[in-house]
Amino acid sequence: MPQRIAIYPGSFDPMTNGHFDIVQRCASGFDKIIVAVAMNPAKKPLFTVQERVEIIRKTVKDMDNVETHTFEGLTVEYARKVGANYLLRGLRAISDFESELQMAMVNRKLAPEVVTFFVMPDARFFFVSSTMIKDIYRLGGPVDCYLPEPAFQALGRKLGPV
Ligand code: ADP
Repeated sequence: MPQRIAIYPGSFDPMTNGHFDIVQRCASGFDKIIVAVAMNPAKKPLFTVQERVEIIRKTVKDMDNVETHTFEGLTVEYARKVGANYLLRGLRAISDFESELQMAMVNRKLAPEVVTFFVMPDARFFFVSSTMIKDIYRLGGPVDCYLPEPAFQALGRKLGPV
């Protein structure tokens, strides 16, 4: 049986409990999940890729079949490079649907052998995004309930205590 390898690509700036929920939900369905941190400076991330990788690695440290790496360029090319036939995406509110559908269709055209799986997080995380968390933190609001501990610590180091 070939290994069932999935990539879970994204910016993860930083990983939220919504992202982590998706990884946990999917972990038993695959031999290996690679959380793939996109190197896309155009997005002007708060954390460097290395910082983002470190946050994720600390968060998933107890999960034997989850690895974290960086990638550049086309997601499906990266999937091919690591032998992944599955691509995971989290689907939140309806607003995610249109752009995710478009991306999934383009990826299918580029690499028909790579299947995109959409997974919904726990309802608590339906409206959680890395961007919103950073904004709330900057304004002094509580965000610890939306972030894994390593992400919360890193946010404090980066933006200072509030
Ligand atoms: P991107 O820049 O590719 O959108 P993100 O880091 O924002 O990267 O998200 C990576 C993936 O995780 C996407 O599929 C996104 O829809 C999903 N995601 C983001 N936030 C959540 C959340 N709160 N619950 C579930 N999935 C999420």
